[in-house]
Amino acid sequence: MLIAAGVPILSTAAVAALGYVSVSPKSRFWGPVVPTGDTSSPPRYALTFDDGPCDNATPRILDTLAQLNARATFFVIGVNAKRFPRVVRRIYDEGHIVANHSYTHSHFGIMRAGWYWERQIRQTDVLLQEIIGVKPAFFRPPMGARHLHLTRAARRYGHTIITWSRRAMDGIPTTAERIVARLTRHTTGGDILIMHDGIAPNRHRDPTPSITAVKPLIQQLRDQGLEPAPLDQLIGVRPYA
Ligand SMILES: [Zn+2]
Repeated sequence: MLIAAGVPILSTAAVAALGYVSVSPKSRFWGPVVPTGDTSSPPRYALTFDDGPCDNATPRILDTLAQLNARATFFVIGVNAKRFPRVVRRIYDEGHIVANHSYTHSHFGIMRAGWYWERQIRQTDVLLQEIIGVKPAFFRPPMGARHLHLTRAARRYGHTIITWSRRAMDGIPTTAERIVARLTRHTTGGDILIMHDGIAPNRHRDPTPSITAVKPLIQQLRDQGLEPAPLDQLIGVRPYA
């Protein structure tokens, strides 16, 4: 029970339900989100990377994608993009999509008001536009967590909120084999896969399993008849304003 000034305002069940609709990638409770794309043939999926760029993992993942002729979407954090603008430029120049993943990726952002989210989104848009010359129109909230202020701010700046349908779970310690197994077991046409090429500020993570997983992942999904497609083509929405 949530209690304010001695008065119960929400039951435990209501708090749990509110938590669920705020983090579930499919929930539209706080506004429209896109967790999957077109499921029609030919079977395609979208590969997405969060929390970059960084100067180690991102270029190595880009090398693999080029080698396999695969295109992906990179949801970058503003402060990381400011540190590594040349990597952002390379992502764009090599035909991948650059998208907005907030400026500071705060884990407490879910508690913040509308002005905070407007600044997080706008600041990242302006920076990315300076680097690549176009303004991103895809936004993925940190941890996928949404609330009314965030979804309103994203809409106000013309963003489509993208979540996911399959997770690599590579934000926590894991192995390349586990990542490939998680992302190949149930993936079908239209799925949006989430991996991590970068590291959110003030966190520590070894990106090696993610880097190593990309090649066998794409190859195994190809063996299953699935081709990686640019996210804009999979969902039928333009990636830039
Ligand atoms: Zn993230």
